[in-house]
Amino acid sequence: MNTGTILITGGSRGIGAAAALDLARRGFDVAINYQRDETSAAAVAGQVRALGRQATTVQADVADEAQVEAMFARLDADAPPLAGLVNNAGIVAMKARLDQMDVARWRRMFDINVIGTLLCSRAAVKRLSIRHGGRGGAIVNLSSVAAVLGAPAMYVDYAASKGAIDSFTIGLARELAAEGVRVNAVRPGIIDTDIHAASGDRARPQKSTDLIPMQRPGRAEEVAAAIGWLLSAEASYTTGALLDVGGGR
Ligand code: NAP
Repeated sequence: MNTGTILITGGSRGIGAAAALDLARRGFDVAINYQRDETSAAAVAGQVRALGRQATTVQADVADEAQVEAMFARLDADAPPLAGLVNNAGIVAMKARLDQMDVARWRRMFDINVIGTLLCSRAAVKRLSIRHGGRGGAIVNLSSVAAVLGAPAMYVDYAASKGAIDSFTIGLARELAAEGVRVNAVRPGIIDTDIHAASGDRARPQKSTDLIPMQRPGRAEEVAAAIGWLLSAEASYTTGALLDVGGGR
């Protein structure tokens, strides 16, 4: 049975917002983390409540250790017990070659995409693992097909950050396998969300159909369905999986 709260980082828009609704339909209560867009987070929470589940919104920059700890402490006090975590918050940056990038860009990218995932996972493990007195649960990390393709002349730094997520997923899955916590990753292909504006081309999904065997970009809901399944009781024997949701890409 699917019960308890799933925290979704970056749940205010895009794939995270779609995951919040998918998880609510599966019976979970939802905590929606956001960084800036409080209005969108509140709108997602309203949609979750309309589905009959509890919803909490919580602001935090996942790259900031103190803010992550405060976010989990607030959920301890305000939400039904934690059942899982979706490490979804992530950024890209302007399309560029490596020799055009600066260190500040790399640090921010790795702080959010990698350190943010580690910080939130650490806090979740302390609440979920039976080793810490928890009841078990599941974690889903958002990787990318870029982890495999490398994103040359686009954003190799982003691809490298998602490669780190793949390794982390495999390692943490094995570390926690006997402690009641499953850890998996979803690797989306080109999905139609706001994230592409940050790479300098908001219309990238529509322009990229030739790169995609299915010849269309994915929808956030199609990624959310994979996230929801991996968190659900139906995936009870699945851990350490890296699930491609890329239309064949
Ligand atoms: P998106 O539409 O740009 O939404 C990003 C979300 O992350 C927003 O809710 C944003 O919050 C939040 N966020 C960003 N930085 C944050 C921070 N420091 N702390 C907390 N929240 C933060 O992105 P998306 O396309 O849905 O992508 C979601 C995940 O899927 C990312 O990890 C991305 O790398 C991965 N992915 C996406 C695609 C794709 O084609 N879309 C492909 C492969 C992988 P605010 O609204 O408050 O700013």
